[in-house]
Amino acid sequence: MKRNETICPACGTLGAKEVLEKESVEVRGEEFVVDGRFWRCPTCSAEFDDSRPEGDPLVAAYRAYREKHGLLQPEEIVAFRKNCGYTQKELAAELGWGEVTLSRYENGALQSKSHEVALRMFMDLQVLRREAQESSRRRMRRLAEDRQKREYSSTLAGVRRDTSRFSSNGDHRLSVGDAGTIELPMAA
Ligand SMILES: [Zn+2]
Repeated sequence: MKRNETICPACGTLGAKEVLEKESVEVRGEEFVVDGRFWRCPTCSAEFDDSRPEGDPLVAAYRAYREKHGLLQPEEIVAFRKNCGYTQKELAAELGWGEVTLSRYENGALQSKSHEVALRMFMDLQVLRREAQESSRRRMRRLAEDRQKREYSSTLAGVRRDTSRFSSNGDHRLSVGDAGTIELPMAA
């Protein structure tokens, strides 16, 4: 069977043809002209709907509406969720939504404005969270490096002190003053 040919459910003849027709669909009070797909039988003239999602003019109209208003498309929501490693259930719980709601959005239902805002805020928060984690990791690394440097230079100073003590002849001994500070003997 050819892709653009199917069996007519009315008369049973193979040969119903796919028809593309511009359709006007209203979404939240706005008109969108989209490609509508349906089948027409040349034998009995019956017309019937396309069962595929791309054939649904409402699906196309929702896409057009989201694009016009800068809303997330279903595949963007899915990509974000998977990128974060969440299941539908987990992300829905994070957002305080029902699992069914998120599932419907991922499958093409048009999101409410408040849900779009909540989802965008959550996405921004995830980015901030990730940046904070990264900068905290960098800070910890820097602290460890600083400590290592300090330990190294104090070891080095200790080695220098020991060396000078062993090579001196009494006069260069370090003495501790009354205030507990280290006093160096005056140079001759
Ligand atoms: Zn027919």
